[in-house]
Amino acid sequence: MKVPLLDLKSQYKTIKDDVLKVVEEIFESQYFILGPHVEALEKEIAGYCRTRYAVGVSSGTDALLISLMAADIGRGDSVITTPYTFFATAGSIARADARPVFVDIDPDTYNISPECVEKAIDDMTKKERAKLKAIIPVHLYGQCADMGNILKIAEKYNLIVIEDAAQAIGAEHNGMRAGAIGDFGCFSFFPSKNLGAFGDGGMVTTNSEALYDKLRILRVHGGRPKYYHKMIGGNFRLDALQAAIVSIKLAHLDNWTKARQENARKYRELFADANTEDMVRLPLQKEDRHIYNQFVISLKEKRDELCLFLNDAKIGTEIYYPMPLHLQECFSYLNYKKGDFPAAEHAASHTLALPIYPELSDDQQAYVVEKIKEFVTL
Ligand SMILES: *Cc1c(COP(=O)(O)O)cnc(C)c1O
Repeated sequence: MKVPLLDLKSQYKTIKDDVLKVVEEIFESQYFILGPHVEALEKEIAGYCRTRYAVGVSSGTDALLISLMAADIGRGDSVITTPYTFFATAGSIARADARPVFVDIDPDTYNISPECVEKAIDDMTKKERAKLKAIIPVHLYGQCADMGNILKIAEKYNLIVIEDAAQAIGAEHNGMRAGAIGDFGCFSFFPSKNLGAFGDGGMVTTNSEALYDKLRILRVHGGRPKYYHKMIGGNFRLDALQAAIVSIKLAHLDNWTKARQENARKYRELFADANTEDMVRLPLQKEDRHIYNQFVISLKEKRDELCLFLNDAKIGTEIYYPMPLHLQECFSYLNYKKGDFPAAEHAASHTLALPIYPELSDDQQAYVVEKIKEFVTL
């Protein structure tokens, strides 16, 4: 049996007619950049995320960068984030000319630990504290970070909160949707996300009218009116084709999310029956609405061997992320070292993502767990 990590082709079959129709319409119009399809999607995403505003941008990475720019974060500033995330989270801080300050994660949820944030700020000198402007929690794998405690810290130290919700559209914390909790919510429509475009795309959500306005100006090189620039922005535009396709998919998102949650539930059942708990730790669900962009297990040992074993059995897996960001070569100027963030380092060397896409069948899931059981009892 073959079990890919993700099967976008089978999802495409279910929306193909709608997609081809709108693509044809846009081709005929020859209107490709921003415009009515982007505006319509912005309203739909704001509604879905329960925010007042949303601004379509070119990618999730650009959503982070433009949010930092709109918050006036730049040279001399620092921003707290997690070292266990996709590179773009910290890369954007550095590209905004600010300094990433890493703190460790909660080993159970893999999300940034509010206790570690608090401690890092306590340990700062007065001068360092004055430079600290923002915090970027990441809702990793589709589960919200501990936003209640993060907001408390942000309030105490007057920090801007930028949610990296690239993996978490529709996820909730205490009934609040990802992207509606902090000052900015950053979303990605990269094809492998739960709501993926047919190319690159992203969105920023906010409840602030002033920030909404600023984001829209920054998105078009900072010009308003056109060709007159009070600020320096960039080309952060979303195109009509991507917006129209994402809009078609958004109508299916809640059903796809339900299927992912159901798959997570089945994995928990199958693993419980397989008696692998000494070797395999399942992801902890702490928050109300986890959207399972990934289902990530932690192996007591031999993670890389299991990965190869499953690959031989034609089961797709992925290691998110093998090298924590504080140990990346490009961040050596930040002077972190191995051992600084033990929970992030442990996760990087012990975890593995299993297939959990909505179209996964019962037989495929049973096969995945059977093979993992076979490996750990070898
Ligand atoms: C995918 C992702 C991004 C970047 O989104 P792109 O659309 O690929 O630029 C940022 N942060 C996290 C956590 C992501 O998973």
